[in-house]
Amino acid sequence: MNIVCLDLEGVLVPEIWIDFADLTGIDALRATTRDIADYDELMRMRLAELERHGLGLPDIEAVISRMAPLAGALEFLEALRARYQVVILSDTFYEFARPLMRQLKWPTLFCHTLETAADGRISGYRLRLPDHKRAAVNAFRDLAFTVVAAGDSYNDTGMLGAAHQGVLFNAPDNVIADFPQFPVVTGYAGLAEAIDSGLARA
Ligand SMILES: [Mg+2]
Repeated sequence: MNIVCLDLEGVLVPEIWIDFADLTGIDALRATTRDIADYDELMRMRLAELERHGLGLPDIEAVISRMAPLAGALEFLEALRARYQVVILSDTFYEFARPLMRQLKWPTLFCHTLETAADGRISGYRLRLPDHKRAAVNAFRDLAFTVVAAGDSYNDTGMLGAAHQGVLFNAPDNVIADFPQFPVVTGYAGLAEAIDSGLARA
């Protein structure tokens, strides 16, 4: 039995915070873990910016509804789901992902949650489990699944290493250079092929 684990941002949808910054014109929201290494500090800054601009959850959902999955992502995912069980493992939040998951026809997503007040204000965030991508892949292996995992960034390398086969998809050069053990593919046709061959070999 096979499971395919996919990262979300950079694989099926754009980087949500970057697009959100573009759509709202709030430049501070373009910062990533490359700019502020401490994730909690980064998230506190983001939530403070949202509050400062008076953006509650309904406003955020409205902005994210204007985003679209990457070109070809829905077709790729639907073809993949017809053949394999697919689970998306992401470090985003359900509240942010929702408008995009609707466009992807609600595939299974494991990620994190925001804490929202009754008035829609975002008061905090809750990481369900640290390093949950790797933990999920290890748990699927314990359930006797063969796992292929694909992602584009450093926060995916744990799950890529835990899987029977990890694949780097449309990854930046620094990630490729730091993790030469993983095959590198670009484009959905290449990814589909890498998934098939990875499962065949496993
Ligand atoms: Mg990513």
